[in-house]
Amino acid sequence: MPYESERNIAIQAVQAAAQLCEQVRREIVPEAIEKKDKSPVTVADFGAQALICRALSIAFPQDPVVGEEDAAELQTPEMAERLAQVTQYVQAIVPEANSEQVTGWIDHGNGQVGSRYWTLDPIDGTKGFLRGDQYAIALALIENGEIKVGVLGCPALSFSEGQTGLMGVAVRGEGSTLASLAGGAPQSIQVVSADQSDNLRFVESVESGHGDQSRQAAVAKAAGITQDSLRMDSQAKYMAVAAGQAALYLRLPSPKTPDYREKIWDHAAGVILVEEAGGRVTDIAGKSLDFSLGAKLVNNQGVVVSNGSIHDPVLAAL
Ligand code: AMP
Ligand code: MG
Repeated sequence: MPYESERNIAIQAVQAAAQLCEQVRREIVPEAIEKKDKSPVTVADFGAQALICRALSIAFPQDPVVGEEDAAELQTPEMAERLAQVTQYVQAIVPEANSEQVTGWIDHGNGQVGSRYWTLDPIDGTKGFLRGDQYAIALALIENGEIKVGVLGCPALSFSEGQTGLMGVAVRGEGSTLASLAGGAPQSIQVVSADQSDNLRFVESVESGHGDQSRQAAVAKAAGITQDSLRMDSQAKYMAVAAGQAALYLRLPSPKTPDYREKIWDHAAGVILVEEAGGRVTDIAGKSLDFSLGAKLVNNQGVVVSNGSIHDPVLAAL
């Protein structure tokens, strides 16, 4: 199996991070700390990044990690209590960890995009995490611009009654699987084929500012989707397409931020999961997403994620 150790280390790290995030949600009402760009971050975002970067730095010390968070603010005197809280949650999983190590692990995620690198969103959909809705822990390995491994943990996601907490795993050329985050046998997953269902659904972001909901509805309709959208936070939307729960995920540039460029960690794990499940991912112009250029997808605008068969009709409608 190619990338076997990368895959296994990534799975274990995402599972540990998911455990930390769920413990935070159970025990405290996570508070949003405002970052310089006004977006929220929580104790759990920092803790999850620390755990995953620790695991990667031990197993693959040469690999840069391009993560969403950094520990600069967390090390200021005003944040001492927060740092203690992050450390305490990390210690629930790594008992010997101290604050200095925790900030060091978080900052291990300040790496640069190179010929081989990991990209990490410790909590994708932090707004969903704060609301008690969907969020994801997203980790992917990229080599020479090609995503090779993706692991997506979705602790609040359920596709069948009685099973909440799902993990999607994909390795290039090996297909995509879905398993319980708690462990258990992975099942192979496939996108929905248009003739399997005449009741196709599409997914989009909960946050109206992260897309163009009215145009998304019009495009989906033009491509033959008659149902209302399902709104979900985070890359859980990619999981829905990969597992055949939705045929399409549209993320068209918001009219409020027409020049926004997507971040690599918001997409890499989801993209390989959908592609290996038989689907297709492009930007709104039909170009593939270019993960070789830095932390942002500077050559792409918007994202179109589909089961494959409705992709061209969607691009035509766009
Ligand atoms: P979602 O849960 O699908 O709404 O995606 C959450 C991600 O949206 C966050 O991790 C942000 O990086 C990203 N984001 C922030 N601002 C924008 C924007 N103006 N357009 C698209 N995505 C954005
Ligand atoms: Mg994110």
